[in-house]
Amino acid sequence: MTMQKILILGPQGCGKGTQAAILSKNLGVPALSMGALLREAAAEDGAFAERIAEIQKRGELVRDADAIEVLRRRMQRPDTQGGYILDGFPRDDEQYAAYVAFDTPTMVIVMTVPEEVSMERLLKRAQTEGRVDDTPEVIRRRLEIYHEKTEPMIRKFEEQGLVQRVDATGSIEDVAARITKLF
Ligand code: AMP
Repeated sequence: MTMQKILILGPQGCGKGTQAAILSKNLGVPALSMGALLREAAAEDGAFAERIAEIQKRGELVRDADAIEVLRRRMQRPDTQGGYILDGFPRDDEQYAAYVAFDTPTMVIVMTVPEEVSMERLLKRAQTEGRVDDTPEVIRRRLEIYHEKTEPMIRKFEEQGLVQRVDATGSIEDVAARITKLF
């Protein structure tokens, strides 16, 4: 089988992290989550970490250069040599340019979900995981950024015929089955 370099994108609450983890097991390649990598970076000491933590808390995008640096460091680890699944990157035009300068995805999975469903899932997650950015106000801001910056960026991958849109409503198993069908 060809090496898989898969990007998973979608609005907050579409379940991209969950599906990336399932697909990672099925394909035997590591799953990298940009949001999780940045949360780890934010938990360290120092000015870089503090800057990331402060922006994440507000639901804004971390500076492109910072996000790219965190990803670059992770990509240097040898486990990504045989392929990877990356969720939550690129999210705007500048990140797109940085990504395509070093790699080409084999597939871009875009998970689609109505806004009410996203909101409901995220508020439920807020109760169990306690993420600081899962408040109604911050969720709204994150969704706004997705529409403003990420959706237009996705069109660039679409023009190259790389995008597969997947209905992300229903159970985790339903969505996983739809994704499995793409391979
Ligand atoms: P997520 O877990 O994907 O919802 O990401 C959580 C937060 O991490 C976002 O609201 C941003 O603050 C930050 N983040 C995640 N991915 C990126 C990215 N590609 N560029 C900049 N910030 C990001």
